[in-house]
Amino acid sequence: TNDEYLETQAKRESNARSYPRRLPIAIAEANGIYVKDVEGNVFIDCLAGAGTLALGHNHPVVTEAIRKVLDDNLPLHTLDLTTPVKEEFVQEVFHSLPEEFARKARIQFCGPSGSDAVEAALKLVKTATGNRSMLSFHGGYHGMTHGSLSLMGNLGPKKQIPGLMPDVHFLPFPYEYRCPFGVGNHEGYEIGQTYIEQLLSDPESGIVPPAGMIMEIVQGEGGAIPAPDRWVREMRRITKEKGIPLIVDEIQTGLGRTGKLFAFEHAGITPDVVVLSKAIGGSLPLAVVVYHEDLDKWNPGAHAGTFRGNQIAFAAGTATIKFVKENALAEHAEEVGSRLMKQLQEIQAQTNCIGDVRGRGLMIGVEIVNKEYQANKVGNQPAYPELASQIQQECFKRGLILELGGRHSSVVRFLPPLIITAAEIDTVSTIFLDAVKHAEA
Ligand code: PMP
Repeated sequence: TNDEYLETQAKRESNARSYPRRLPIAIAEANGIYVKDVEGNVFIDCLAGAGTLALGHNHPVVTEAIRKVLDDNLPLHTLDLTTPVKEEFVQEVFHSLPEEFARKARIQFCGPSGSDAVEAALKLVKTATGNRSMLSFHGGYHGMTHGSLSLMGNLGPKKQIPGLMPDVHFLPFPYEYRCPFGVGNHEGYEIGQTYIEQLLSDPESGIVPPAGMIMEIVQGEGGAIPAPDRWVREMRRITKEKGIPLIVDEIQTGLGRTGKLFAFEHAGITPDVVVLSKAIGGSLPLAVVVYHEDLDKWNPGAHAGTFRGNQIAFAAGTATIKFVKENALAEHAEEVGSRLMKQLQEIQAQTNCIGDVRGRGLMIGVEIVNKEYQANKVGNQPAYPELASQIQQECFKRGLILELGGRHSSVVRFLPPLIITAAEIDTVSTIFLDAVKHAEA
């Protein structure tokens, strides 16, 4: 039973385990957007490996690609030595990126996970600029390794660890619903922008010269917060003018999730560094950094690692990228994402605890607030994590897996596989409405 598995998990696994405690399930099988537990209960998976499973679980193009590597007796492990499977993956990645960026780009294999690629990006820009500090954003999430954790806005996971990278300057992110420059001030992010420019221009601002700026175009773990295109373009302008490499973390947004293959394409900018993982490995561990050749200043041997040549992941990744492009899944994400957003806005109108519905494509968040404060309708109603958690539980009971994120874990996040159909979106909304009403009652 689920309980037997969960008991072992509770006894043996590290205390650091968090979200699995809220999703008490032992998964036996998985197919498309569905998972089945060991007792035969079926769930719609809107967590999907925190946005990893673009094609859902065990998509035939992915499982066939994996099988082919085994059937053809191809090498499974080659360190960084090249293979046709790896080369095909590289070609696919470069052809997916905008020509403007890809033309002068280099790739560094990292892995196996996203945090590793963030670490590599950090080392890359520090090496290239000789500077030691970094610019990051309030609410940003870039991973759990030492360096990537230093860039995290959320103090929670950092407070037990003394001596993280000290020179990180945290800048305000354009979180319009909770604008740090005034309640309900939807243009407040422009003040933030001016502040950032001033900080980087004033020789007496006290800022240590930055090696780079790292940003998510849509903050994921931070609560599905999309940055306005205009703001993204301004950050690009400012960093370019100041000679600061701009790193776009596309680990969660990459490969169609936000309605474009890469989220930075919405604003039409060209970053200096793009960090990719999750979906590009087609459900297997794979992470890379792609960057402008001018930054390629590190010495041979400056970055190495054993598991950066996972041939099965390359094959699964190539198959996934091809499928996403051939089936226009970015456009599909935009279409069904808008459908879901609209339905969630209707649910917001029919219920009492939803402060904000936001996102881009199939990266959507619903911010749960304290209904007693709902009367004043504008801006900063206090977060209501207990109710968000109750809603998550009610969804779970009804066969829908959703994860929480954002400030105080008060944002319910929707990250379904990109292959989800309009009819399945409707089912998700129906379950969600019922769950919210039940939790509110
Ligand atoms: N950056 C972003 C934007 C992410 O969403 C994540 C994972 N949620 C990471 C970095 C870290 O990736 P990993 O967990 O694979 O180390």
